[in-house]
Amino acid sequence: MKIVLAEKTGFCFGVKRAVAMAEEALGKKEPICSLGSIIHNKQVVRDLSRKGLKVVKNIDDITEGTVVVSSHGISPKVAKDIVKRGIKIIDTTCPFVLNAQKIAKRLSEKGYVVVIVGDSKHPEVKALVDFAPKRVFVVKDKHQAVRLRLKKDDRVSIISQTTQSMTNFLDVVKTISGYAPKEMTIFNTICHDAENRQERARQLAGKVDLMLVVGGRDSANTKRLFEVCKKVLDNSHLLESEGELKEKWFESVKTAGITSGASTPEWVIKKVVKKIGSISRKIS
Ligand code: SF4
Repeated sequence: MKIVLAEKTGFCFGVKRAVAMAEEALGKKEPICSLGSIIHNKQVVRDLSRKGLKVVKNIDDITEGTVVVSSHGISPKVAKDIVKRGIKIIDTTCPFVLNAQKIAKRLSEKGYVVVIVGDSKHPEVKALVDFAPKRVFVVKDKHQAVRLRLKKDDRVSIISQTTQSMTNFLDVVKTISGYAPKEMTIFNTICHDAENRQERARQLAGKVDLMLVVGGRDSANTKRLFEVCKKVLDNSHLLESEGELKEKWFESVKTAGITSGASTPEWVIKKVVKKIGSISRKIS
């Protein structure tokens, strides 16, 4: 069986940077914690925990030392609260996320109604909402966009969670423009890495008999990649580690393609490739 890796796998720039910053801080042997998972990958979080990073859910659980802010960013209200408590912050927010935050803030200050295309429960979107405190809506797709209570004379600005698919973003833009607010501005805040990864995965899924998407189930960009692949090839599967591979997926498979989320380290992908090798030997 032939195994083809997508051109883009492993950590993206933002995740690589966040993990490196956390590791550097851990090297200083001070108490370090992260508010939620620093990235959406269990293996990496486990590895950082072994090195001393404590994951806390609430700021009340941070009593000393330094808190590492994840690559998804942090709400300005929460950041202020942490600083007020005398706790240091190491901010690993990805520059692409920072850019979306700056745009949301600027537009909100100028009086625009900000519409964010994304998942309202994702930490990046939750923080982004707080950068546009006046009037802000989160919609996940065109169906939710139809139900938005925008007024004809609203000045509307649409931005995106960095890991959304371009198709979904444009569908929302088209839907909102359909009921013509007075003024509408659009900012494509989708990150290039996420967009590129989706495009490469889409192309690869069209050429193989089985497509594997390796990444965390709570990772937004991994979920998007899986959706993209599944649309092209039904025999597409999302898995977090090699232990989840199933022999039945490989029946009559001559070529298997692999892509990964932006927070999946290369070593996890290598383990998946190795296990596929042993499955292939077993079933041939
Ligand atoms: S996927 Fe994009 S926005 Fe998210 S951390 Fe990576 S580079 Fe940054």
